[in-house]
Amino acid sequence: MVSTLIMTRPKKRLFLGLMLMSEFFVALILYGLWKLTYPGLLGIYEHLPFLIGAIMIFVSTFSVGAVCNMVLAMRGLPYLPLFRKYSYELIRFLFPISVKIGKIFGINRRQLEASFIAVSNLIFIKCGIKVKANRLLVIVPHCLQLAACPHKITRDPNNCKRCGGCNIGDLMKLSDEYGFHFLVATGGTLARQFVKDVKPKAVLAIACERDLMSGIQDVYPLPAVGVLNIRPNGPCYNTKVNISDVRKMLEKVIIS
Ligand code: SF4
Repeated sequence: MVSTLIMTRPKKRLFLGLMLMSEFFVALILYGLWKLTYPGLLGIYEHLPFLIGAIMIFVSTFSVGAVCNMVLAMRGLPYLPLFRKYSYELIRFLFPISVKIGKIFGINRRQLEASFIAVSNLIFIKCGIKVKANRLLVIVPHCLQLAACPHKITRDPNNCKRCGGCNIGDLMKLSDEYGFHFLVATGGTLARQFVKDVKPKAVLAIACERDLMSGIQDVYPLPAVGVLNIRPNGPCYNTKVNISDVRKMLEKVIIS
């Protein structure tokens, strides 16, 4: 069964809304802790409760500011790039809480990850990031290759015979047409090494929700966009990608 998530557009407000709810939840816990410890803090030093309270308010305001910053960037409005780095740190911290809150509303982890990718892609586009084709690296997972294919393409994708058995051949044709770097990665180490060698200015990754979400955060400050794969045979086995989606993304990312 083709993953239904690929068929429906992930809602961006899902991720942003749950991030804000998680921040509210964390702020409530911090407030509870502050209330509980108030007498003890007062006993140590009379101004300590106010100092600790001020730090907590600053942290909470800063984290709400980071989410608002994402909304500004998504709408193409002026935003603070400095916030972006902290946004990813914040996401790492709050995402598990968002997943738990999402469950209460019947939202699963995959939907949230897909929503994050939609938000991140939109920010990338709205920021007007465009690179020359030879400074773009397209990374795909090994499971996109037909499992029965005898050709070793992870070190050199040119070994692909473009037989039409899987989407690797289609992506090779796109690589020839546009001139971007193309890597079939077996893992993070190979991908990192390739990034080091090629020194791209942007990355287009094709993968599942989980890998795209962590990958986009891992390659930061390198800007990255993601295209979700299709998994008609379950995860990590003979996966596919919609080539017209990849082409559309390439058109947005590459300077023509
Ligand atoms: S398109 Fe390339 S990688 Fe895919 S099955 Fe054919 S030869 Fe193998």
